[in-house]
Order: sequence, then structure tokens, then C-alpha cells
Amino acid sequence: MRRETKLVHYGRPTMPGPANPPVIRASTILHDKIASFRDTKIRRETDDSLLSYGRRGTTTAHALADAISDLEAGDATFLFPSGVAAMASAISAFAAAGDHVLIVDTVFGATRAFCEEQFDRNQVEFDFIPWNTVDLSPWVKPWTRAVVVESPASQTFEVMDLPALCKSAKTHGLTVIADNTYGSGWLYRPLELGCDISVVSGTKYLSGHADLMMGAACARGDACTPLRSFVHGTGQTLSPDDAYACLRGMRTLGLRLAHHGQSSLALANWLSARPEVARVFHPGLEGHAGHEIWARDAVGCNGLLSVRFNAGFHLESFLDRLKLFSIGASWGGFESLALPVYPDQHRSLEAESEDEASGPMVRFHAGLEHAEDLVDDLQNAFGS
Ligand SMILES: *Cc1c(COP(=O)(O)O)cnc(C)c1O
Repeated sequence: MRRETKLVHYGRPTMPGPANPPVIRASTILHDKIASFRDTKIRRETDDSLLSYGRRGTTTAHALADAISDLEAGDATFLFPSGVAAMASAISAFAAAGDHVLIVDTVFGATRAFCEEQFDRNQVEFDFIPWNTVDLSPWVKPWTRAVVVESPASQTFEVMDLPALCKSAKTHGLTVIADNTYGSGWLYRPLELGCDISVVSGTKYLSGHADLMMGAACARGDACTPLRSFVHGTGQTLSPDDAYACLRGMRTLGLRLAHHGQSSLALANWLSARPEVARVFHPGLEGHAGHEIWARDAVGCNGLLSVRFNAGFHLESFLDRLKLFSIGASWGGFESLALPVYPDQHRSLEAESEDEASGPMVRFHAGLEHAEDLVDDLQNAFGS
């Protein structure tokens, strides 16, 4: 069955019944026989979809987790109250005192902050690696345990060669954890490229309507057990209401991403020709860092693009004149966004090719408005 069809049918309750799995709110799950209670406690250690206690999810969350496992081609999915919680948990499950972890330098800001602020006190060693690393040998120590990647990169969208990097990771016995929020299990499938865990902030495209916080970590093979143990040990959970809303949003994931991707590419091309613009960052543009790898490993782009304006560009008045693009953090909802970004402040390594242009930078999210209206809005904000 094709993915579009599966999106419609994930979690369908038995008939006669509703089209969506209902919100089932519960802490205690009641049993009438002690044997049933004891049996559930044993079986839930290997069956993530068993109804045993509210913290481990009810039918609502289980339907969402199964849907994400299917999208990501993984064996088990765990749900979290935010993307940051999912990423911090996935890393923590593979980083104990004395371990060494490699992190791509272009990783999401909160993930970078987590490593910089929490690893020291937990005696975990770490190094940042360049986004174009394919051979990990120069970085690996005998006590290296995991590699944290994100492709395309946060804010600048460089595409990593994950199949090559994962091959190298395997020869060193390392667990590879990928932040797949950009691809959200639809455009890109890190587990199929060799990663062990794929993390998605469901706050973005999975839910898709800018009205909830959610994270998911999907694991395959040997990575499932340490992750499951960490998740249960730290009491990670997602409310059934948010699980319901996320799964409802996912019904249109494919349709929305097709529109977001077309619009962002249209904006990227239009902005590339503007005299105010020094450089456009979008993995769908020819000449973009890793564009060929993206064409090989992914099936489309999302609504994001970043723009470096020429030095001296008056950013504040441009942003204030935008009407369809609002100013705000996050992305992945139906609405268009513009946000000043400062990637240089979130990198430890020298950029591969220093930008000659030093003007201000904005990350745009192309929402579900008509692309031509978005172009008109940008044109109006430029003043002509
Ligand atoms: C937004 C985001 C996160 C964090 O997700 P929240 O749900 O906001 O906590 C993590 N990684 C990436 C790449 C993101 O864009």
C-alpha cells in the first residue's frame, strides 16, 4: 500500500466505530482478576502497545506511535512532551559517564545547548564534527559510543551523506541518532539510510497546525532496548489529547509537505534573483551544499529556506512590512514565518567556505498560502 493511503488508515478503530482512534484518558487501568494484572506487567516489557498504565500511553498514543514507526521504517517509537525532550532522551540513553559522543556542528541550537550544558556535569566527553564528515576514524576514541546528526543542517540546510557516515559508524560500533524533524518521516528516512534512531519534533509538520508540543524517537534493532529503558525510567509520556491532535494532523502530512516544498522552492528561486539577496539556502537549489545527496536520499523539500541579505540591508523595516509572514519561532504549521537567525553563533568549527557577504540572515517558512501571494508579500516588503 502506498504511504498516502496508509496516512488515511493509521489507527482506524474496528467498525462500527469512529474514523479516528478516540481520546482515551487514563492513569489507572483496571483489572478484575489478579492474574490479568500480573500478566500485563510481564508482557508490557516487550509489547509497547499494551494497555497497562497511563504513563505508558493508551490506545490513542499507541496508534500515533505505530503510525510513526511505519513512516520511519522503525521497530519501536516512544513519545515525548516536546522535540527537545525526545532529542535529549535519545542522546542520554546512549551517553553515560565516561562515554564520548560526536555531534554534527550544524545541529539544532537546543541540542547543542543540551550537550554543552549537561554533558560536563555527567562526565560525558564530546566533539563537534563537520557536516560533510563521511569517515569518522579521525574523531573516534576507544570510548566513543554515539554520533548525533541532523540533515539537512539547522538554519543553513547542508545535507549530510548519511549512508556513508553510518557505514563508518558501524565499523566503529557506534549508535547513530538523527534529528529528522526536517524530513518528518515523509521526505527522508534516516533509519533506511543506516541510522539507529530517528527523532522528530511533532510540534512541526507531524501535527502541522502550530497548536501542540510533541516529540517522537523511533528506533530499530538493538537501539530499541536502551531507549525504552531510558524512556520508562525517566517517565516520558504524551497526553492523549496531544496524541489525538497529532495523528489528526498527520492525515494531511503528504499533501501539506508537497505544498510547503513547492512554495519554498518557488520563494528560493525568486529570492535568488533579487538584488538585495547575497545567498539563498535551500536543499532543492542546484549548487546548494549537498544538493545531489538530497536528490539521491530524499523525496522532496519542506517549507524552510534561509536568506543572507547583502551587508547594510535594513532587516527591521523589511520584517515589519511583511503581512503574510509573521515573526515567530518554530515552523511546520500552516502559517508562514520569518525569523532572524545567526547560525555563526551556533557553530564551533570554521565554516567550509566563509560567506563573503556579512549581511543579516532570515529563515523563512513557506506556509500553505498561495505561493504567488507570498511572493507578492516579499516584493511589497522590499518596496518594489
Ligand atoms: C523544533 C525543533 C526541535 C525541538 O522541538 P520542540 O518540539 O520545539 O521541542 C528539535 N530539532 C529540530 C531540528 C527542530 O526544528
